[in-house]
Amino acid sequence: MKSTVQVISYSNFLFFLVSFFWIISSSAQNEVYEDVSLTDTTFVNLKDYSKDFIYDMKYATEDNFLKAKVYDCAECFLRLKTVQALIEANKDFIKKGYKIKLYDCYRPLSIQNKMWQIVSNPEYVADPKKGSIHNRGGAVDISLVDSKGKEVDMGTPFDFFGIQASHNYTKLSKEVLSNRKFLKKVMIKNGFNSFDSEWWHYNLKTGLKDKVSNQKWDCE
Ligand SMILES: [Zn+2]
Repeated sequence: MKSTVQVISYSNFLFFLVSFFWIISSSAQNEVYEDVSLTDTTFVNLKDYSKDFIYDMKYATEDNFLKAKVYDCAECFLRLKTVQALIEANKDFIKKGYKIKLYDCYRPLSIQNKMWQIVSNPEYVADPKKGSIHNRGGAVDISLVDSKGKEVDMGTPFDFFGIQASHNYTKLSKEVLSNRKFLKKVMIKNGFNSFDSEWWHYNLKTGLKDKVSNQKWDCE
């Protein structure tokens, strides 16, 4: 009797062991599959990863300082690691009743060339020979909207070229200063650096050394 009990528990144990390794190996296969298809520097479309962003892609319209539409369509492509960090930042904003609004994301080198041909001034447009973090897929130009979709007052419009757009400029209302501070605090917490002369510009810290790139995407 005693030996029968032992045989049953031994076979149960074997069954458990086989099931355990089957589960482990199949989940490991899934992980390998994901690793092969994407790396953290792969360019991806933000909208495929989150529906919680507001888009106002200024360079896909003529409503920008170039007065020219330089993108064929309004898409926000970024490196996967930038997308992941941005989604985490947006979750923090959503908890407080706000959402990120995007003005510009990854900017292919061909678009940077186009912009440089329109305005060949390094104070306003990065020289395509050097490239910017936008050309590396690690920069975003953003603001915030409240729960009613109204844009938060940041003191100047996007791409305002003047001292008032600087993080160091303090002759602004308390509300504006606190809005800029809120944006900066959450972005820095999630792995981004601010840019002193433009309240809207943020660079992913781990994206500074990625290569400039000339990806192309289809417009539907
Ligand atoms: Zn920017």
